[in-house]
Amino acid sequence: MKRITIAIDGYSSCGKSTMAKDLAREIGYVYVDSGAMYRAVTLYALEHGLIAPDGTIDEERLRAAMPDIVISFQFNPERGRPDTYLNGVCVEDRIRTLEVSNRVSPIATLGVVREEMVRQQQRMGQEGGIIMDGRDIGTTVFPQAELKIFVTASAEVRAQRRYDELTAKGEACNMEDILRNVEERDYIDTHRDISPLRQADDALVLDNSHMTIPEQKQWLLREFERVVNGGKSGMSGDSKISGLSGTLK
Ligand code: C5P
Repeated sequence: MKRITIAIDGYSSCGKSTMAKDLAREIGYVYVDSGAMYRAVTLYALEHGLIAPDGTIDEERLRAAMPDIVISFQFNPERGRPDTYLNGVCVEDRIRTLEVSNRVSPIATLGVVREEMVRQQQRMGQEGGIIMDGRDIGTTVFPQAELKIFVTASAEVRAQRRYDELTAKGEACNMEDILRNVEERDYIDTHRDISPLRQADDALVLDNSHMTIPEQKQWLLREFERVVNGGKSGMSGDSKISGLSGTLK
């Protein structure tokens, strides 16, 4: 069976990675969390003093440092998904803090960062059999992807999910800070000059505000099967799945 490319884009904290990694495990594909790569660059920049307390980024030093930032993934069987490594060190927990979340979107606007990340992502996907999630996967990284999904949910639902995730890990946080972070990242991601977040014309839209994780998984698996069995990817740019259980046939 042909091993296709699956691109999952969407807003911050809308559960893209949960869907993507579950499907990857089910169908034996490689899963790549492209947001983790931008987070790892941000962690490097924070730890090397390339981001001032007021948020100003030292772009020249970051440009010079890019060849020293080596990002890789290693599958962690306990978590059932890959952990992110920065220069050979596992940084999976450190890239998920609110500090990194607050700094990542400005870093991700920089051409020097995006060019290098996109180059590495395209190399990871050259054999097919890959599911990648992010903001520009269906539009820039893999515009030829056979299946493209654009995921969305209300900002409040997404902030609540992120809050639950962080508190489960024992990180002190409050809902207002998280909601502000989610909204700020959405704004920066959709308004930046290079590869802004937008729905690819041939993407299917999934609003998962009111869907459970198993429902999303079932929906995605069905779309995957439809495409590999010869169906077309996006029905049309405005085809929209409301996420109500009743729409899941
Ligand atoms: O997916 P996640 O929320 O972890 O991504 C962190 C940030 O990285 C996003 O808010 C966005 O600014 C950036 N990003 C991006 N392009 C991608 C993936 C993530 O600009 N393909």
